[in-house]
This record gives sequence, C-alpha cells and structure tokens, in this order.
Amino acid sequence: MELRDQLSAALNDLWEDAVKSPKHVKAGLSKKMPELANEIRNGEFDNSKKFIDDLLKMLNVEEEVGSFGNITVRINTKWTLALGPKNKNKYTNIITKIIRFKRDLGRPGIYTNDVKFYDEYQERRRNILADTMQYELFGDVNWIEKIMRQDSSDEFKRGNWSVVAMTGITHKAFGECLDALDKASEIVSKKFSQLIYGKVYITSSIHGSRGTIAAYSDATDEMTLSIKAKESAGDVFSIIHELGHRFIRRFWKDRDAQEKFMRLTAEHRKIKVPVTVEDRERMLGEFLKMVDDVRNNVKAKTSVDLNRWSSWLLANKKNIQFLLRKYALEKDDSVLDEIKSTFISEEDGTVELDVSAQEDFWVSGYAKQKRSWQENFCDAFAMYMLGEKLLPEMTEIMDGLSIKSESIDRLVFALNEVAS
Ligand SMILES: [Zn+2]
Repeated sequence: MELRDQLSAALNDLWEDAVKSPKHVKAGLSKKMPELANEIRNGEFDNSKKFIDDLLKMLNVEEEVGSFGNITVRINTKWTLALGPKNKNKYTNIITKIIRFKRDLGRPGIYTNDVKFYDEYQERRRNILADTMQYELFGDVNWIEKIMRQDSSDEFKRGNWSVVAMTGITHKAFGECLDALDKASEIVSKKFSQLIYGKVYITSSIHGSRGTIAAYSDATDEMTLSIKAKESAGDVFSIIHELGHRFIRRFWKDRDAQEKFMRLTAEHRKIKVPVTVEDRERMLGEFLKMVDDVRNNVKAKTSVDLNRWSSWLLANKKNIQFLLRKYALEKDDSVLDEIKSTFISEEDGTVELDVSAQEDFWVSGYAKQKRSWQENFCDAFAMYMLGEKLLPEMTEIMDGLSIKSESIDRLVFALNEVAS
C-alpha cells in the first residue's frame, strides 16, 4: 500500500472509532437505568458497572489514583463553563455521587461464616444500590441529559462555528451576541483564521474567568459566549482575548517567542519608544478632548501614549505646565496656539522616548491585576488584532506569530481529540 493510502486508511479508522465512541451515544441514557436497577436487585452488576464507566467517559470525567491512594477526579466535561454557578455546583455534586456509587458497586462486601447474616447483608446491599440507581441517579442523569443538550438538534453553523444554545436560550434571543462573534471572527481571521472553529455555547451567564462575556475552556478547547454580548468594542475585545487563550494553548509552538514574551515581564530596563508627528497630533486631539472634560467636570481618562508624552513634555518643555494650567483651569483660550505648537513640538521627525519596559509590559489593568503573562498576552493579542499600539518589542513578537505552517498539527490534534 502506498504511504498516502496507509495514512488515509489510518485516518478513516480514527474517524470510525470517534463516531462509535461512547461520547457520541445520543440521548436516552437514563432510559436504561430502571432495568439496570432490576439487574442489581438480582445480583447482576456487570451491565451497571459498564453503564457507569461509559457515562463517566462520555462526560469526560477522569479519575487518577495518586501515590498515596488518593483519587483525583477531573471533570473535563465540555459545556460546564456554560453552566451558571448554581448548575455547575449541582453538576459537580452529581459527578461526586456517581463516582461514590461506582465504588460501592465495586466493593466485594463482607466475609463471614454466618450464612444467614451474609445473605441478609447482601440483599440489603443490593436493594440500597438498586434504589440509588433507580430513583436518585435516574433523576440526576435525567437532569444532565436535559442540561447537556445531547440532541443538539438545533446546533447550527455560523461561519466556521457550530453554535449550541444552552437550555433556556431561544434562537430568537441570539441576534446581537452572534454579531459580536462574527465581528471578532472577522478581525481574527485576517491573520489567524485557523483559530475560528468548533463549538460555541450560548449561555445566559458565564461562571469563570474574564468578565461575563466570553470564556475559553482549556480542557475541551471550546468557547462559551454570553447572550448579553454586543457588537461593542469591549465585547469584541473580550472574544478576541479568549481566542488568544486558544492560540497559546493549541497553536503557539514557537517556544522562543513565548519565552521572549514572558521575559519582557521580568526585565526592568528602559526601552525606546518612537513617537511620530502623527502620534503627537493624535495625542493633541486626545488632550484637547480631555481638557473639555475637565472644564465640564467630567472625569477624564488618559491613554498610555498621552501619559508618556506628557511626562516627556513636562521634563523637556519647561513652560508647558504654566500653559496647561492657564488653559485647563483658568479657561484662558489665548494660550491654545502655543500649547498646540509645544505639544506637536518644533521637531518634525520621530522623537524617541525612554520608557520603562516593566511598566508598559502590562498592557491593561486586567493583566496587571492578574499578574499573569498569559492574560497579558491575550490582551496584547486583542490590542494587536484591533490595531492598538503596543511596545515595539511586543509588536515584533505579534508580527512573527503565525499558525499557517501549523495547520497539519492542528489536523492531527483534531483527530486525536475526536479519537480520545
Ligand atoms: Zn483570559
């Protein structure tokens, strides 16, 4: 067989396995449970054991036995991010219950010579297990079936995404949140179209990381989007930020670039930031708007750029402080022209500012507060995609990012995912 044929045969096998795996068993799980309970009453445990194993596999729950015999349970279930805090809690409790049940089912019972006592004990045990299966777990699994929306009959394509509405969300309510998704996808696609794939769960509340607009699940490589998302700059930013997490987790293979980005945070040093005439003109506009705000008693905000530039002005143009005071506080408009020319400065070329890399490394208050290079990267990633200015070193790293050559890895990764 040709290598190419072998490869395609192997891929076919993977695909077949994936389709047949318990993950893909469609609804109706709980239907089996009353019958399984009867079997337990009759002393037949095998089918129930298999059922519980399959159930845990399907929900992507892993058990790991540690070196001290302690067991760690990892719930990698997709869509759990999309559950609100209350349902997520309920779900976790149910998983704990199922695992406890699994252990009880596997226990050998007691050793005794008293035959009568032994028989009574076994009957009692079988009844307790059967009741748990028939009444308690039956209701729980029913609930899970409802909330996980296994039928996914109303899952639909939106661009490259598969959109799934969580329980209680109707398609009519979608409107704007999908516009936000489209907008973010369109922007990201300019350079990283491979990031746009897979499921997006639409939910009414997100329990998790940043804000409440969007979330990315590392474990399952899926997105969750709040129904409240709008096509506003902030919400689009949040969605792109989450796609940044997907980039780090699944696509960023260039360890050198990653290390370079991380190292930026650790190094205290001055770097040069170029400020062009156009930059200065833009900042003048921003400044004048800010003065208006001050005059109207509106709380004014300054950008990083303007902060930097005004520190430079204060250090290098001695009269600026006097002019600014006159203009902003005394509302004296006669000094405006002088302010304008000082602001743009008499030099027509690019001015190089010395700024501390450490200070500017945190591209946002959010990243700084989290003190996490990943969060910082994701915000920087979003800023970069939206055309906002970054440290030149950071821009250089972003320019160098590419996932085009890694599309093969992506394919292999996707196949491993469906096959596992
Ligand atoms: Zn984040």
